[in-house]
Amino acid sequence: MKIRSLSRLTITYVLALSLVALLTLAIFITLHQVILTQRDSAQLINLSGSQRWLSQEASLLSVELIYSKTPAEQDSLRHDLLRIVEQIQSNNQRLIESTPDEPRRLSPVMKLLYFDPPFNLETDFEHFTSEAFALAKEPSSLLTPNNPHFNYLLQNNETLLEKLNTIVNQYQKESEDKIQHLQLLNSASGVIILLTIIFLGVYIFRPLINTLLTERAQLEQANQELSYLSSIDGLTGIANRRQFDQSLTQLWSLASRKSEPLALIMCDIDFFKAYNDHYGHLQGDDCLKKVASGLKESLKRQGDLLARYGGEEFVVVLPNTDIAGAEKVAEVLRANVEGLEIPHLFSSVSPMVTISVGVAFQYASSASSPERLIEAADQALYQAKQTGRNRIVLANSSIIPQTQSDLSQNSLKI
Ligand code: GH3
Ligand code: MG
Ligand code: MG
Repeated sequence: MKIRSLSRLTITYVLALSLVALLTLAIFITLHQVILTQRDSAQLINLSGSQRWLSQEASLLSVELIYSKTPAEQDSLRHDLLRIVEQIQSNNQRLIESTPDEPRRLSPVMKLLYFDPPFNLETDFEHFTSEAFALAKEPSSLLTPNNPHFNYLLQNNETLLEKLNTIVNQYQKESEDKIQHLQLLNSASGVIILLTIIFLGVYIFRPLINTLLTERAQLEQANQELSYLSSIDGLTGIANRRQFDQSLTQLWSLASRKSEPLALIMCDIDFFKAYNDHYGHLQGDDCLKKVASGLKESLKRQGDLLARYGGEEFVVVLPNTDIAGAEKVAEVLRANVEGLEIPHLFSSVSPMVTISVGVAFQYASSASSPERLIEAADQALYQAKQTGRNRIVLANSSIIPQTQSDLSQNSLKI
């Protein structure tokens, strides 16, 4: 279910992103179009301006040609007039023709103005240029104020200029309209992008982050549960050997930093093999549980640690506790287990289940190690077994350093 909703979110996210990408592309294209339109418009205005100037220049040159005095002057004026005519023709071509360098798509209105009567600008230009051309080629004898070509140029120049103005105005109007449309499209795309981003934030990122946070919390909880389970003994519910090893190392280094003593008590159920053999393994397990909870209830300080060391052995770590304190706790542990009054008719020491206890204590330091403390407690426990069981034995004071001053000659010989 969660995976399906996640994949739905992902699909929506990808779709929304694609929309943003498409709209960004649209904005880019429209901006490009705006630039092209503005460039076209500027070129057209340029060309039209140039046409205006050239047609005026052609009229002026035709007047000068008609009234020129010398053949040399005439030649130069004819040459200038031809050059102007050529420029007008080439400008006209550029105005109406679209080339790869100057792509120009004339609107239907513009085409009408150019090519159809009554406006017919194209024909007017052709006439004007062919008349100017004819005047430039006219023999000297015909260059008089009555010359028909000359008169045509004078009479039509003004009309041509007006038509050019109309063309420019029309083109400018069309460009402005086009730019307005493009800008509208641009703004709409911008608004849609903004809305899409808001949608992404509200409907994609927020649920996505919420899902991730929830899953992270669940994962952390599962991890905690897992690490709790991996540190607990399945049968008795107290700390297991793994947890004991970890905690002892930590408590040891803490005690070492604070120069505090650390006590360790090792407990072992007496004649437990016989108990199992006679009462059965299941009852044996039950007995282990009872002993574990009896031991647990005997410990009052929060920092004390009780763990199942293995089999029917339990271990207690008492931070910041000297030998006298540890001895007291050990006695409480022993007495409480006995006080549970779990019948054990096959024990040679008591009709009830009892424990033997070995106690060791040490000022933690880098000169020693937690393993040595365990070893000392284990040896004390061995002595308790040897000397009759159901008792506590303190580790030999000559073996375990009992005071801080002993630390200097700390040489555990166990
Ligand atoms: P001692 O007084 O010298 O300690 O004798 P003991 O019989 O208690 O010691 P021994 O090491 O000979 O036997 C320990 C027995 O504890 C062996 C096994 O049957 C029993 N045992 C160990 N772990 C478990 C357990 O998880 N459940 C049960 N029911 N019995 C266990
Ligand atoms: Mg044992
Ligand atoms: Mg035992």
